[in-house]
Amino acid sequence: MSITVTKPFLPPYSEYQAYIRAIWERERLTNNGPLVNDLELKLKEHLAVDHLLFVCNGTTAIQMAIRALDLRGEIITTPFSHVATTASIVWQNCQPVMVDICPKTLNIDPNKIEQAITRQTSAILATHVFGNPCDVESIGAIAKRRGLRVIYDAAHAFGTQHQGRSLLVHGDIATCSFHATKLFHTIEGGAVITSDVELMKRMAIMRNFGHVSATEFGDVGTNGKNSEMHAAMGLCNLRYIQPILDVRRRLSERYAARLAGLPVGFQEIAAHAQYNYAYLPVIFEDEAVLLKTLDQLNSNSVHPRRCFYPSLSKLPYVTRQSTPIADQVSPRVLCLPLYHTLSLEDVDMICELIKRSMQKNGSDRECDSPH
Ligand SMILES: *Cc1c(COP(=O)(O)O)cnc(C)c1O
Repeated sequence: MSITVTKPFLPPYSEYQAYIRAIWERERLTNNGPLVNDLELKLKEHLAVDHLLFVCNGTTAIQMAIRALDLRGEIITTPFSHVATTASIVWQNCQPVMVDICPKTLNIDPNKIEQAITRQTSAILATHVFGNPCDVESIGAIAKRRGLRVIYDAAHAFGTQHQGRSLLVHGDIATCSFHATKLFHTIEGGAVITSDVELMKRMAIMRNFGHVSATEFGDVGTNGKNSEMHAAMGLCNLRYIQPILDVRRRLSERYAARLAGLPVGFQEIAAHAQYNYAYLPVIFEDEAVLLKTLDQLNSNSVHPRRCFYPSLSKLPYVTRQSTPIADQVSPRVLCLPLYHTLSLEDVDMICELIKRSMQKNGSDRECDSPH
């Protein structure tokens, strides 16, 4: 059996089946059905946020956020994120301006934002990378001072608490992904979150082709809706969110204990954060060691993933911008397997393989040295 970087959480089949049977009885599959409404309500309660709309995926969520804020010109963003972050900016006819990351937190470096602001800048779109909170206070202060809007790509941030509240309350809009690979998922899905009722109304209209009523259109719209089947998966999974978070913490602590003493680094998590352990990124000393370790793991049927590589500043549709830290860090980050059914023994085995691969490095050198 192979071990992949992630496996989707699956609730007990009977629980999902009960929801599906009820859908059959109602004969209502989509278009803001009762399960979609129920999921939105439960998510709002769970996260203690003002407004939340369940949408078809996390990429559409970012695109809707950019449109709802009427963003134009340049958007300051991070080169170390999923490609959807940058692609959504370009998709909305705006220009991404890459600001380099902090090598410890892996998030956008707030100290480098101001110098990238021009007369064309309309917003900052930052990612809470691997669920680690951005410096939301500094970013918020810069945005306020310079009249910019803030969107957080919070695709990884479900379950992270910051200063005692969900991290998702920050920004004019926060966007989530509920894709099957994410910690909380609805198979495919996502959400936009805001405390601004006008923005919420705009996005609700946008999500449904721009309809304001059956025969009236407001804004230009898209199809950002999601289905009853997807909402049903979310309702099932939300019941297990605490065990999901607990298991990830336990596995992550085991990784940290077993890898201690090896020449690998870990992401520095923000102070005052209650982290969600969404991912297990390990930072190697150089790319060659990463590749050698990856090779060793692959040949033992363990398949971690290089996230995020390459750096987004190298995308063919991004004008070349200098982000030396992201360019230098991105080739050295490997996300190790982390999912609900992974066992502590699996973690021990993976760490043993990593250790062996690194020790082999040492013994190679010994062979080279004259005795
Ligand atoms: C997964 C992800 C997305 C895209 O979400 P989808 O639901 O797959 O469209 C966007 N940003 C980040 C940081 C992600 O990890």
